[in-house]
This record gives sequence, structure tokens and C-alpha cells, in this order.
Amino acid sequence: MALIVQKYGGTSVGSIERIKNVACRIARFRALGHQLVVVVSAMSGETNRLLALAKGAQADPNPRELDVMVSTGEQVSMALLSMSLIEMGVKAKSYTGAQVRIHTDNAYNKARILKVDTERMQADLDAGYVVVVAGFQGVDETGSITTLGRGGSDTTSVALAAALKAKECQIYTDVDGVYTTDPRIVPEARRLKTITFEEMMELASLGSKVLQIRSVEFAGKYKVRLRVLSSFEEGGEGTLITFEEDENMEQAIISGIAFNRDEAKVTVLGVPDRPGIAYQILGPIADANIDVDMIIQNVGSDGMTDFSFTVHRNEFVRTMDMLKSQVQPHIGARDVVGGDRIAKVSIVGVGMRSYVGIASKMFRSLAEEGINIQMISTSEIRISVIVDEKYMELAVRILHKSFDLDQAP
Ligand code: ASP
Ligand code: MG
Repeated sequence: MALIVQKYGGTSVGSIERIKNVACRIARFRALGHQLVVVVSAMSGETNRLLALAKGAQADPNPRELDVMVSTGEQVSMALLSMSLIEMGVKAKSYTGAQVRIHTDNAYNKARILKVDTERMQADLDAGYVVVVAGFQGVDETGSITTLGRGGSDTTSVALAAALKAKECQIYTDVDGVYTTDPRIVPEARRLKTITFEEMMELASLGSKVLQIRSVEFAGKYKVRLRVLSSFEEGGEGTLITFEEDENMEQAIISGIAFNRDEAKVTVLGVPDRPGIAYQILGPIADANIDVDMIIQNVGSDGMTDFSFTVHRNEFVRTMDMLKSQVQPHIGARDVVGGDRIAKVSIVGVGMRSYVGIASKMFRSLAEEGINIQMISTSEIRISVIVDEKYMELAVRILHKSFDLDQAP
């Protein structure tokens, strides 16, 4: 008998029929003698519907009131699941985040969990109840409802697992685990049996939507055993997110390939090569709250250089305007150019630490296909390149193949 926290995402609770399927799964776990705390998301599409509805009342909705509103999606799912369980003869009780007392700060719409009270849940578990908790929400010091940011139910479930010292936190979703890359682009993509926290953090920050990045951070910090599985499939073991590379685990140099079309590139041409220039270019960008990802500055010749960086595509126009109107005249740059038809392709793997030549292998594979690399950035366990958007899928496919990701290690 073990205490397990399970989380069911929006598609898994998207209809009464699916909620009943979830209830059957929970009943089977109960029958095995496990204690269960179950975190639910809003039914799929519901959070978006609520957000749109709010905008009808106030163009830029009041953050506190918005949280009062969007937190209701989860409240509906939790009651429907409890009722379905009770209907099947399984004792169940549901609680909102505020009822449990999931304490958060007061950053409405993106609050952070500070502390979780476990007494009420523990008492119900001891009395044989399945405890169903609304994901994505908490309560601040003043008793106001807060929400944790899109995808926040993942973080709720990890936080509950940490607080209750659960044996495992299982995230049930519409895919059966974490893949080497998106199977829609590479049909040979494989499900990974395990992936390390660091790799999962990189993948989440590169735009993989499988887990909210904060939930991975949280799991790493509190050493929560975290697993991603499908709610539409029986008996799968999903992907286990591990703490260390241990002997028994798959030993691949590269674990996954991520890609996204979220960024745009800007280049300030003919910049005087002198101290303070990077600050003069990026200072105003930071002041305008625009996130910068990759940055490249060439070696200067004749006292001049070029300076490139990437921003989110949604900020492309604003960034170009600012550079042209404020920065270019101020520093005396020749021109500002840019484009948003780019894509970022990244390879991720802890094995990079112990092998040399990974970057050159990546660049050679791209070169053999005639794919031009526009920018490069690296971390200890990641190499990212910016390429023309039209070559993105090709780049992902050839990298998947050249690093043998289609074959089990
Ligand atoms: N319902 C919220 C969202 O759509 C939270 C979640 O599903 O994790 O972002
Ligand atoms: Mg999600």
C-alpha cells in the first residue's frame, strides 16, 4: 500500500464519459490498497472559455477577479469526479485549493506555492477517502483565490506529493510519456523510459508542453518521484523523471530534440565596437520587459561589429521599433534588420558532459543537408541552433537519425 498523487489533465476529464473512465482507474488503484490524492484540471477548453468570457466584461481583466473566475473550471471537474467515484461506491471528497489551504504568494495569475496544509487531506486518507483536489489554484494571506499560471495543475500535484511525502506523483495526460521528439514530425520517435530532471527542465523551457516547467523545478527541489503517463491506455509505464543518471538507465548521449517557432531574430548592423554597447542595445529592451534568448556579437573589424539577438515572435515588431527609434540613432549603428521566419532546434542530453564532438556532429549533419545555421547557443547539456523556418522539420528529422534516437540504446 502506498500513497500516490495522480493528476488528470483537461483532455482526460474532458467529458463525463472520460471522467467516468478516470474514476474506474482510480477505483482499481483503491482496490489494490493504495491511498490516493487526485488533482484535476479544468475540462479541456474550459479555461480558455472562461478567459474569453472575462474579457467581455473588462478588456484587461482585474487580476484578482480573473483568478476568482478561472479557478472555477477546476472546481467543476473536481466535483464531477467525486460524484462519479461515489456513484461507483468509492468514498471520495473534493476540495478547492483554498479549502485544502494551498498557501501562495499574492501574484495573481502566476502565484507561487509557499506551503501546503496536509491535515485535512491526511485525515480523509486515513478514513479511507480518495481526496480530489482542484489543480492550478491556492489562496493568499488575505484569503483571496490565486491561480498558478497556465498548466499549473502539474505544479499543484507535485506540491501535494512533496507535502504528503507521496511515493510517486503520476501525471496522466493525452500522450503516453516523454518522447525523443514530436512523433508528428518524426514517426520513429520513441517514448523514453526515463529522463533526468535536468533534461526535462531544458525540454520544458524549450517549449515542450508535456509538463509545466515549475512543476519540474518543484519536483527537482523536493525530490518528488514524477512520472508522465497516458490516461487513455492501460498498463503503460510512461516516462519516469529521474534524479541521477544511474547504471541501469538508458545511456544515450542525446535524449531528445526540441524545436519551436516562437522566436524572431534582430540584428543591429555596423555597431561601434566599444565598451557599453551591449548594454546600450539590450538595456532598453530589458526595461520594456522583453525577454531576450540568444545573443551573438561578432568580433569587430575596423572598430565596427554586428550585434544579433532573438526575442519572442510576439515582441518582434515592438523590438524592431525600439531599436530603430531609440537605439540606432543613439549609438550610431548603420542599420537594424530582422526576421521572424526562423526556428530554433535543440538537442538535449546529459551525456554531452562526458562526450566530445557532439556539437561538431550536429553541425556536420545539418551541413550535409545544406541547412545554414544562423545562430548557436549552448548550455552544459544542450545545443541550440537557429535555422530558416522552412528547414526546421528536416533538421529535426536528420538529427534524430544521426544521433540514433530511433533505436533503443
Ligand atoms: N486549467 C488550467 C490551464 O488550462 C490549468 C491546467 O490545466 O493545468 O492552464
Ligand atoms: Mg497540461
